[in-house]
Amino acid sequence: MEAKLKEALPVLRRLAEAGYQAWFVGGCVRDALLGRPVGDVDIATSARPEAVMALFPKHAPTGIRHGTVTVFLDGRAYEVTTFRTESAYEDFRRPAEVAFVDDIRDDLGRRDFTVNAMAMDAEGRLMDPFGGRADLERGVIRCVGDPDERFREDALRMVRAVRFAAELGFRLAPSTWRALRRNAGLLRHIATERIGAELDKMVLGSDPDRAVRLFVRSGLWRETKAPLEAPGEPACADGMRLGALEAGDRRWIALWAASNVPRDSAKRWMSGFAYGKRRLDGIFGPLDLHAEASGMPDSREAWAELALRHGRKASEDWLAVMRAFPALSPVPPDTIGRWADWLEAMPAFTAAELELDGRTLAAAAGRRPGPWIRRTMDRLLRETAAGRLPNERRALLERALELAEDERDGKDGT
Ligand code: ATP
Ligand code: MG
Repeated sequence: MEAKLKEALPVLRRLAEAGYQAWFVGGCVRDALLGRPVGDVDIATSARPEAVMALFPKHAPTGIRHGTVTVFLDGRAYEVTTFRTESAYEDFRRPAEVAFVDDIRDDLGRRDFTVNAMAMDAEGRLMDPFGGRADLERGVIRCVGDPDERFREDALRMVRAVRFAAELGFRLAPSTWRALRRNAGLLRHIATERIGAELDKMVLGSDPDRAVRLFVRSGLWRETKAPLEAPGEPACADGMRLGALEAGDRRWIALWAASNVPRDSAKRWMSGFAYGKRRLDGIFGPLDLHAEASGMPDSREAWAELALRHGRKASEDWLAVMRAFPALSPVPPDTIGRWADWLEAMPAFTAAELELDGRTLAAAAGRRPGPWIRRTMDRLLRETAAGRLPNERRALLERALELAEDERDGKDGT
């Protein structure tokens, strides 16, 4: 048995000893059978949530209304969910009601795809009423039951179908694919955070390129609650593989840099998924830099200014993306290489990182602090960034006094 499942056996045993049925279910069974790394180990049981909580003193009632209790054992967390069916789906979304049942088969029947609708017991025996194992072997994502009905119950399943197909390298069963195309418009009823979470798993998953292609080809792309209003499509040119980048937001940066979607539309579309301002800034900052870099003179000063304006992380992310995909870059690869060296040599990105502070400067200059301090510090920052001045206290102070002196001789009379 797969290692993570083995570790979780004490949970199944404790439930069994108390007279309940207990199974591994869903993704962990699928991944164990495929020989892929198992993520979360989910457990389904005939025990009601109160009984589960009584058996596992360390627990958190994470989804108690839907029958889910998180139990902690040997430093690990498991979601233990009472066998249930779902009913009264409203507005093409998650069910309004769940009902607890006594048969694992009924629980498996509510699940989305055959490969996700298998259960395994403590002896490794498989419960597979919908042919999940055969679909795993054939490499097929197929809805449990009638696909039109299943997508109408919960339209997010369409996005999940695309995600699992890309992640596992599977095809969609023809009937599932046709139903998906027919029902794509229902995605508008789905909460944007849920779509956002799935999208992230696609772009950060094992085959982001196929995921994006399927998402666009299925039509789902244009059917989210906050639709992409601009023309164009998120797409990479042939031969460019997002998957060549480590899983992370650089993939999002590369995708938008490669696409013909205007930046503002892309940003508005992504903000619809509740990714948070910080994260969006981390993606669109480098894209702003990207726009500004084209047509910029190839000088150390110009690059240092650009890098200072956007910060270390955005600059590094942008360079990494340009390095991975030179075809996207507004400048040739050797320029990118030089800019990377210059970036690495930049000692400070904010005045606070300089080895000189405003108070020391004011005291040394024998002047009252004022706007001149900021101006001087900014200048020092730019000069260190361009490699013309080391970030050392003495050198900085000397140069600062010189600058302050120039300023005093000039029009500034403070
Ligand atoms: P992953 O490795 O991506 O977590 P997973 O199969 O564990 O894959 P989850 O989203 O964690 O996916 O869901 C756990 C299980 O719950 C699924 O395997 C599936 O059986 C069921 N499930 C999840 N979401 C739905 C849904 N929208 N409709 C029906 N069943 C679902
Ligand atoms: Mg999971």
